[in-house]
Amino acid sequence: MPEWPDLHVVRGRLVKALVGHEIVLVRVGDPTVLRATRPVETALAHRRFTAVRHRGKFLIFDLDRGSIVVNPMLAGVFELADAEAKLTRTTALSLVLDNGTDLRYRDDKRMGKVHVLDEGEGTSSIHGFDELGPDAGALPWTEREFAERARATRRELRNLLMDQGFVAGIGNAYADEILWEAKLHPKRRVITLSDEEMSRLHRALVDVIARGVREVEAGLPPELGTKIRDHMRVRVHKGKPCPRCGTPIVKTRQGLDDMYLCPRCQSPPKGQIR
Ligand SMILES: [Zn+2]
Repeated sequence: MPEWPDLHVVRGRLVKALVGHEIVLVRVGDPTVLRATRPVETALAHRRFTAVRHRGKFLIFDLDRGSIVVNPMLAGVFELADAEAKLTRTTALSLVLDNGTDLRYRDDKRMGKVHVLDEGEGTSSIHGFDELGPDAGALPWTEREFAERARATRRELRNLLMDQGFVAGIGNAYADEILWEAKLHPKRRVITLSDEEMSRLHRALVDVIARGVREVEAGLPPELGTKIRDHMRVRVHKGKPCPRCGTPIVKTRQGLDDMYLCPRCQSPPKGQIR
Protein backbone atom coordinates (compact mmCIF):
# COMPACT_ATOMS: atom_id res chain seq x y z
CA MET A 1 0.00 0.00 0.00
CA PRO A 2 1.43 3.38 -0.88
CA GLU A 3 1.90 5.32 2.36
CA TRP A 4 2.90 8.90 3.15
CA PRO A 5 6.56 8.71 2.07
CA ASP A 6 5.64 6.91 -1.17
CA LEU A 7 3.02 9.46 -2.17
CA HIS A 8 5.16 12.38 -1.07
CA VAL A 9 7.94 11.38 -3.43
CA VAL A 10 5.57 10.40 -6.24
CA ARG A 11 3.87 13.77 -5.91
CA GLY A 12 7.16 15.62 -6.33
CA ARG A 13 7.98 13.64 -9.47
CA LEU A 14 4.50 14.13 -10.92
CA VAL A 15 4.56 17.89 -10.35
CA LYS A 16 7.61 18.10 -12.59
CA ALA A 17 6.14 15.81 -15.24
CA LEU A 18 2.56 17.10 -15.40
CA VAL A 19 2.01 20.68 -14.27
CA GLY A 20 1.34 23.05 -17.16
CA HIS A 21 0.65 20.24 -19.62
CA GLU A 22 -2.58 19.46 -21.43
CA ILE A 23 -4.26 16.07 -21.68
CA VAL A 24 -4.51 15.25 -25.40
CA LEU A 25 -5.70 11.64 -25.15
CA VAL A 26 -7.71 9.81 -22.49
CA ARG A 27 -7.69 6.02 -22.48
CA VAL A 28 -9.73 3.89 -20.09
CA GLY A 29 -8.52 0.36 -19.58
CA ASP A 30 -10.15 -1.37 -16.64
CA PRO A 31 -12.98 0.97 -15.52
CA THR A 32 -13.68 -0.85 -12.20
CA VAL A 33 -11.86 1.73 -10.07
CA LEU A 34 -13.17 4.86 -11.82
CA ARG A 35 -15.75 7.06 -10.11
CA ALA A 36 -17.21 9.85 -12.23
CA THR A 37 -20.57 11.47 -12.89
CA ARG A 38 -19.93 11.57 -16.64
CA PRO A 39 -17.66 9.73 -19.10
CA VAL A 40 -14.06 10.45 -18.10
CA GLU A 41 -13.03 10.75 -21.75
CA THR A 42 -15.12 13.92 -22.06
CA ALA A 43 -14.53 15.11 -18.49
CA LEU A 44 -10.74 15.05 -18.89
CA ALA A 45 -10.18 15.82 -22.57
CA HIS A 46 -8.06 18.97 -23.08
CA ARG A 47 -7.84 19.68 -19.37
CA ARG A 48 -4.53 21.08 -18.14
CA PHE A 49 -2.74 20.06 -14.93
CA THR A 50 -2.31 23.03 -12.57
CA ALA A 51 -1.03 21.27 -9.42
CA VAL A 52 -0.45 17.89 -7.79
CA ARG A 53 -1.03 17.59 -4.04
CA HIS A 54 -1.27 14.80 -1.53
CA ARG A 55 -3.26 14.30 1.64
CA GLY A 56 -2.68 11.17 3.68
CA LYS A 57 -2.98 8.25 1.28
CA PHE A 58 -4.72 10.33 -1.40
CA LEU A 59 -3.11 12.00 -4.41
CA ILE A 60 -4.92 15.03 -5.84
CA PHE A 61 -4.47 16.28 -9.38
CA ASP A 62 -5.82 19.80 -9.87
CA LEU A 63 -6.89 20.64 -13.41
CA ASP A 64 -7.79 23.97 -14.97
CA ARG A 65 -11.36 22.74 -14.57
CA GLY A 66 -12.12 20.01 -12.04
CA SER A 67 -9.73 17.57 -10.40
CA ILE A 68 -8.83 13.91 -10.03
CA VAL A 69 -8.53 12.40 -6.53
CA VAL A 70 -6.93 8.96 -6.26
CA ASN A 71 -6.83 6.60 -3.30
CA PRO A 72 -4.53 3.78 -4.41
CA MET A 73 -5.54 1.50 -1.48
CA LEU A 74 -3.58 -1.76 -1.47
CA ALA A 75 -1.98 -2.01 -4.86
CA GLY A 76 -2.55 1.09 -6.98
CA VAL A 77 0.55 2.58 -8.61
CA PHE A 78 1.25 5.55 -10.86
CA GLU A 79 3.52 5.20 -13.86
CA LEU A 80 5.09 7.66 -16.25
CA ALA A 81 5.21 5.73 -19.48
CA ASP A 82 5.95 6.24 -23.14
CA ALA A 83 2.54 6.69 -24.78
CA GLU A 84 3.51 4.08 -27.39
CA ALA A 85 4.12 1.36 -24.78
CA LYS A 86 1.42 -1.29 -24.57
CA LEU A 87 -1.26 -0.80 -21.89
CA THR A 88 -1.32 -3.63 -19.37
CA ARG A 89 -4.47 -5.52 -18.41
CA THR A 90 -4.78 -3.72 -15.08
CA THR A 91 -4.12 -0.19 -16.33
CA ALA A 92 -7.24 1.68 -15.28
CA LEU A 93 -6.50 5.04 -16.81
CA SER A 94 -3.96 6.49 -19.21
CA LEU A 95 -3.64 10.23 -19.79
CA VAL A 96 -1.37 11.23 -22.66
CA LEU A 97 -0.04 14.78 -22.44
CA ASP A 98 0.96 17.33 -25.06
CA ASN A 99 4.64 16.54 -24.36
CA GLY A 100 4.21 12.81 -25.05
CA THR A 101 4.27 11.78 -21.38
CA ASP A 102 1.68 9.16 -20.47
CA LEU A 103 0.44 9.19 -16.88
CA ARG A 104 -0.96 5.78 -16.07
CA TYR A 105 -2.69 4.42 -13.02
CA ARG A 106 -2.48 0.65 -12.62
CA ASP A 107 -4.26 -1.32 -9.92
CA ASP A 108 -3.62 -5.06 -9.83
CA LYS A 109 -6.11 -5.60 -6.99
CA ARG A 110 -8.76 -3.16 -8.28
CA MET A 111 -9.34 -1.88 -4.76
CA GLY A 112 -8.28 1.73 -5.32
CA LYS A 113 -10.55 4.56 -6.39
CA VAL A 114 -10.06 7.23 -9.03
CA HIS A 115 -12.57 10.04 -8.48
CA VAL A 116 -12.99 12.44 -11.38
CA LEU A 117 -14.54 15.60 -9.95
CA ASP A 118 -16.17 18.34 -11.98
CA GLU A 119 -15.45 21.98 -11.32
CA GLY A 120 -17.06 22.97 -8.02
CA GLU A 121 -17.80 19.37 -7.03
CA GLY A 122 -16.75 18.84 -3.39
CA THR A 123 -14.92 15.92 -1.83
CA SER A 124 -17.82 14.78 0.37
CA SER A 125 -18.43 11.78 -1.91
CA ILE A 126 -14.88 10.51 -1.28
CA HIS A 127 -14.88 8.08 1.61
CA GLY A 128 -12.75 9.32 4.51
CA PHE A 129 -11.31 12.35 2.72
CA ASP A 130 -12.96 15.15 4.68
CA GLU A 131 -12.12 13.47 8.01
CA LEU A 132 -8.35 13.22 7.44
CA GLY A 133 -6.06 14.26 10.28
CA PRO A 134 -2.82 16.15 9.70
CA ASP A 135 -0.30 14.61 7.33
CA ALA A 136 2.13 12.13 8.87
CA GLY A 137 5.12 13.89 7.32
CA ALA A 138 4.04 17.39 8.36
CA LEU A 139 2.72 17.07 11.90
CA PRO A 140 1.79 20.51 13.23
CA TRP A 141 1.87 19.38 16.90
CA THR A 142 4.48 19.76 19.59
CA GLU A 143 5.41 16.61 21.46
CA ARG A 144 3.03 17.64 24.24
CA GLU A 145 0.10 18.24 21.89
CA PHE A 146 0.78 14.90 20.25
CA ALA A 147 0.69 13.17 23.64
CA GLU A 148 -2.54 14.90 24.66
CA ARG A 149 -4.31 14.04 21.43
CA ALA A 150 -3.08 10.45 21.46
CA ARG A 151 -4.07 9.88 25.10
CA ALA A 152 -7.55 11.27 24.48
CA THR A 153 -8.22 8.36 22.09
CA ARG A 154 -7.39 5.59 24.62
CA ARG A 155 -6.65 3.31 21.67
CA GLU A 156 -4.13 0.56 20.96
CA LEU A 157 -0.98 2.01 19.44
CA ARG A 158 -1.09 0.36 16.05
CA ASN A 159 -4.75 1.16 15.53
CA LEU A 160 -4.06 4.73 16.55
CA LEU A 161 -1.18 5.18 14.10
CA MET A 162 -3.29 3.76 11.29
CA ASP A 163 -6.35 5.87 12.11
CA GLN A 164 -6.43 8.33 9.21
CA GLY A 165 -8.51 10.75 11.27
CA PHE A 166 -5.71 10.98 13.84
CA VAL A 167 -2.72 11.16 11.51
CA ALA A 168 -3.08 10.77 7.75
CA GLY A 169 -0.86 8.54 5.63
CA ILE A 170 0.35 5.68 7.83
CA GLY A 171 -0.50 2.12 6.80
CA ASN A 172 0.62 -1.35 7.85
CA ALA A 173 4.24 -1.05 6.79
CA TYR A 174 5.16 2.26 8.43
CA ALA A 175 3.07 1.46 11.52
CA ASP A 176 5.23 -1.64 12.09
CA GLU A 177 8.41 0.33 11.48
CA ILE A 178 7.43 3.19 13.83
CA LEU A 179 6.48 0.82 16.67
CA TRP A 180 9.67 -1.18 16.30
CA GLU A 181 11.71 2.03 16.30
CA ALA A 182 9.90 3.18 19.46
CA LYS A 183 10.30 -0.29 21.10
CA LEU A 184 6.57 -0.41 21.78
CA HIS A 185 4.20 -3.33 21.33
CA PRO A 186 1.41 -2.67 18.78
CA LYS A 187 -1.32 -3.71 21.20
CA ARG A 188 -0.21 -1.46 24.06
CA ARG A 189 -2.95 1.00 24.92
CA VAL A 190 -1.93 4.59 24.59
CA ILE A 191 -3.04 5.39 28.15
CA THR A 192 -0.51 2.89 29.56
CA LEU A 193 2.47 4.76 28.07
CA SER A 194 4.82 6.65 30.36
CA ASP A 195 5.90 10.15 29.33
CA GLU A 196 9.23 8.71 28.19
CA GLU A 197 7.49 6.06 26.04
CA MET A 198 5.15 8.65 24.58
CA SER A 199 8.12 10.80 23.68
CA ARG A 200 9.74 7.78 21.96
CA LEU A 201 6.56 7.15 19.96
CA HIS A 202 6.40 10.75 18.76
CA ARG A 203 10.08 10.84 17.84
CA ALA A 204 9.87 7.47 16.06
CA LEU A 205 6.89 8.63 14.00
CA VAL A 206 8.68 11.78 12.84
CA ASP A 207 12.02 10.04 12.21
CA VAL A 208 10.68 6.94 10.45
CA ILE A 209 8.51 8.92 8.06
CA ALA A 210 11.37 11.33 7.28
CA ARG A 211 13.77 8.44 6.66
CA GLY A 212 11.14 6.78 4.47
CA VAL A 213 10.94 9.89 2.31
CA ARG A 214 14.74 9.95 1.89
CA GLU A 215 14.92 6.25 1.02
CA VAL A 216 12.02 6.33 -1.41
CA GLU A 217 13.44 9.45 -3.08
CA ALA A 218 16.77 7.65 -3.53
CA GLY A 219 15.28 4.37 -4.73
CA LEU A 220 12.27 5.24 -6.88
CA PRO A 221 13.01 4.92 -10.62
CA PRO A 222 12.07 7.78 -13.00
CA GLU A 223 9.17 5.81 -14.47
CA LEU A 224 7.74 5.22 -10.92
CA GLY A 225 5.46 2.14 -10.89
CA THR A 226 6.96 0.37 -7.87
CA LYS A 227 7.08 0.55 -4.09
CA ILE A 228 10.37 1.01 -2.25
CA ARG A 229 10.50 -1.15 0.87
CA ASP A 230 14.19 -2.25 1.07
CA HIS A 231 14.92 0.17 3.92
CA MET A 232 12.40 -1.41 6.27
CA ARG A 233 13.76 -3.12 9.38
CA VAL A 234 10.92 -5.41 10.47
CA ARG A 235 8.27 -5.26 7.75
CA VAL A 236 8.32 -8.49 5.71
CA HIS A 237 11.36 -9.63 7.73
CA LYS A 238 9.75 -12.68 9.36
CA GLY A 239 12.38 -14.94 10.92
CA LYS A 240 15.25 -12.55 10.19
CA PRO A 241 17.24 -11.17 13.12
CA CYS A 242 16.04 -7.94 14.70
CA PRO A 243 18.62 -5.30 13.66
CA ARG A 244 18.81 -4.16 17.30
CA CYS A 245 18.88 -7.35 19.39
CA GLY A 246 19.13 -10.29 16.96
CA THR A 247 15.90 -11.98 18.06
CA PRO A 248 13.99 -13.40 15.06
CA ILE A 249 11.23 -11.06 13.84
CA VAL A 250 7.75 -12.47 14.32
CA LYS A 251 4.85 -12.16 11.90
CA THR A 252 1.42 -12.17 13.47
CA ARG A 253 -2.07 -10.95 12.65
CA GLN A 254 -4.06 -7.97 13.68
CA GLY A 255 -7.57 -8.28 12.34
CA LEU A 256 -7.12 -8.82 8.61
CA ASP A 257 -3.64 -7.30 8.59
CA ASP A 258 -0.19 -8.85 8.84
CA MET A 259 1.89 -7.36 11.60
CA TYR A 260 5.65 -7.69 12.18
CA LEU A 261 7.47 -7.08 15.44
CA CYS A 262 10.46 -8.02 17.59
CA PRO A 263 9.16 -10.08 20.52
CA ARG A 264 12.08 -8.96 22.68
CA CYS A 265 12.34 -5.22 21.93
CA GLN A 266 8.57 -4.78 21.89
CA SER A 267 7.33 -6.54 25.00
CA PRO A 268 3.60 -7.28 25.07
CA PRO A 269 1.14 -5.60 27.41
CA LYS A 270 0.48 -7.53 30.64
CA GLY A 271 -1.79 -10.53 30.19
CA GLN A 272 -0.94 -11.01 26.53
CA ILE A 273 1.47 -13.52 25.03
CA ARG A 274 2.40 -11.47 21.98
ZN1 LIG B 1 14.79 -6.70 18.93
